[in-house]
Amino acid sequence: MKVPMMKCPIFDGHLLYISKFLCMNIHEYQGKSILSRYGVRIQEGIVADSPEQAVEAAKSLNKQTGTQWWVVKAQIHAGGRGKGGGVKLAKSLDDVKDLAKQILGMTLVTHQTGPEGKLVNKVLIAEDVYYPGETPTREFYMSVLLNRGTGRNIIMYSTEGGMDIETVAEKTPHLIFKEEVDPRVGLQGFQARRIAFNLGLSGNAFKEMVKFVSALYKAYEGSDASLFEINPVLKTSDDKILAVDAKVNLDENALYRHPDLMEMRDITEEDPIEVEAKKFDLNYVKLDGNVGCMVNGAGLAMATMDMIKMSGGEPANFLDVGGTASAKRVEEAFRIILKDPNVKAILVNIFGGIVRCDRVAQGVVDAYQNIGEIDVPIIVRLQGTNAEEGKQLIDASGLKVHSAIQLEDAARLVGEVLR
Ligand code: GDP
Ligand code: MN
Repeated sequence: MKVPMMKCPIFDGHLLYISKFLCMNIHEYQGKSILSRYGVRIQEGIVADSPEQAVEAAKSLNKQTGTQWWVVKAQIHAGGRGKGGGVKLAKSLDDVKDLAKQILGMTLVTHQTGPEGKLVNKVLIAEDVYYPGETPTREFYMSVLLNRGTGRNIIMYSTEGGMDIETVAEKTPHLIFKEEVDPRVGLQGFQARRIAFNLGLSGNAFKEMVKFVSALYKAYEGSDASLFEINPVLKTSDDKILAVDAKVNLDENALYRHPDLMEMRDITEEDPIEVEAKKFDLNYVKLDGNVGCMVNGAGLAMATMDMIKMSGGEPANFLDVGGTASAKRVEEAFRIILKDPNVKAILVNIFGGIVRCDRVAQGVVDAYQNIGEIDVPIIVRLQGTNAEEGKQLIDASGLKVHSAIQLEDAARLVGEVLR
């Protein structure tokens, strides 16, 4: 499930940007390793990047757990892998080899990857945990995330776990329960028991669930995560409770406290333009719209994206050039924005404080000349120190650049060039 955002008409968009901006995604096998460190029981597995390694992994798992069946799971930063053909059951070592061969190198398309899909570089070989036994297996849904509205953590859970949680959330939202946790006191025992009770558990499974939830909450808190989503949480036929899947988002701003987690970054999963922007120290986040934007300051960048939406466009990116936007940085930022083929117009919105508007204007003019062949219209809104001088520079350059000092004028121009 996508990170659910608290509904709030204007800030809705904001929250989405913030959440994407501050998150580092990791793979299922990495998420499970964090869980395991905190004492959450997991479906055991070993990661592999060739069919031969996959077979070795399966053999070790057999020694470790006694399992005779395995699941081969594509490791990509997206959910919905099961439905997309990225999770398959293997009943022999030959199956493991064949399935690993089939899944490694495939471009997996799921409802979360977009139509272009994602290349699979690694598979997780995991023990089969759906074996028959005393009681039927059951799949639950559970996630821990931040409720920005109340400033509390929230545990969402449901008896309707498995691959169709999106449908559950949409059609039968009353089947998703919520437990709010005050971060100052942490998850209380009665809350963990309420969760186990609401999930309809009793006996040993009940006790196991209480332990599971408590350890899961500690993992979320201890790793400074913004999301831990476990779907399914499985009750095995011998009443163990374990995490079969793990979707984890870590808070980028807290990563400096976790060098070990920082190493989990997999840039092959990230947008190449974003990776490129990081090299230049530009805060760039790719979005799906058509208006590129270049702004100084994260807050102004958020407001600018809202403004683009209100004038009928969709932001193509978030880009904060920082407080010391030199002519050179402006040029680099242009190159980054223009790498995105969806960009139909660019809005430059700079508030000149320390940075002088005429210098930014010079950067725009230079970029235009140095990059050459910019065929999308550019709207430049400069306000603050030397705004008039900046506007004159642009107007005198004779380039296809529209200048504005007032935000409303800039918004109107964006609307006009998109028409
Ligand atoms: P997702 O589709 O990306 O969310 O990937 P999951 O890790 O949730 O796996 C998808 C589905 O595969 C689960 O909902 C299970 O139904 C199934 N699955 C996962 N592990 C096992 C296993 O050990 N045995 C069997 N038989 N099925 C499994
Ligand atoms: Mn899942």
